[in-house]
Amino acid sequence: MKLPLVYSSKYNTDLAELGIVKPFALDRGQLVLSKLASDMGEIPDIHSPEPISDQILRLVHTAEYLETLNNSSTWIELLELKADEYFPEKAQAPLTLLLDDIKTKCGGTLLACELALKHGLAANLGGGYHHAFPDCGRGFCALHDIACAIRSLKARKLCRKVLVVDLDFHQGDGTAVVFQGDNSVYTLSVHSEEGWPEEKQQSTLDVPIKSDETHLYLKKVEAALAKALSDFAPDLVLYVAGSDPYEKDVLPGTKFIQLTLDQMRRRDELVIDRFADLKIPLAMVFAGGYGPHVWEVHYFATRRILERAGALSPVR
Ligand SMILES: [Zn+2]
Repeated sequence: MKLPLVYSSKYNTDLAELGIVKPFALDRGQLVLSKLASDMGEIPDIHSPEPISDQILRLVHTAEYLETLNNSSTWIELLELKADEYFPEKAQAPLTLLLDDIKTKCGGTLLACELALKHGLAANLGGGYHHAFPDCGRGFCALHDIACAIRSLKARKLCRKVLVVDLDFHQGDGTAVVFQGDNSVYTLSVHSEEGWPEEKQQSTLDVPIKSDETHLYLKKVEAALAKALSDFAPDLVLYVAGSDPYEKDVLPGTKFIQLTLDQMRRRDELVIDRFADLKIPLAMVFAGGYGPHVWEVHYFATRRILERAGALSPVR
């Protein structure tokens, strides 16, 4: 039986080949799959995505913005590449090559949603570009895969009411902007009050966490889920499971929330179990996470999805 996981080797873009030195941790999906293979004693049989179509991208992004993704300067800006992070003289390929890999990750988020609607739970082992705005890329996000997936599913009448549960360190500001005024999409964002983005947008429900209240983090997540579910009855949940609140995340800007692996694991189980218990379809995406250790968080979350989907037996 195929597991409800979506991945392609194109997710693990060779940044060195593009002349980029930055701890983006694009190997998270590969590391999660390797660990699952060793747990299972065989290479997991999973789903492979197609790149998302330009027609779907235009349901969220302006044609003018999409056109600029053919220029290297757009990528330098949205990936925030500083002089000591980008070495064009060492690059063997242009930055614009990133576009195809990112379109594949967007296709992966859409496929994970379709699998969730069919089977209950699914995960895209990448994606989660929640900072992209309709008319510009920002915060390392070029295309808003989550918004594209939601708009495509709704256009095909595969779902009506979608809840986005965003627990990345950073506010899901792009998601808030895309769905502002759309009552069929409820955007919940639990994020650090401090740090980037300085200017926060208005989600349906925002729960900013101050750096001295991280001991309350899990309680606040639990209360936020309860509030969202009392306000709204979704037929699909997108779980944006950023690993950047983890204490081993290396991005300097994420220092304001430092949760342990056990806390991160409890967070992910809280969300996955809640919707699995309610039998509301849930698709998870990885979103933010930087450095060599963050994959551990995604591994336990992915395992939980598989356990609750009945595809793996729980181990403690
Ligand atoms: Zn983030």
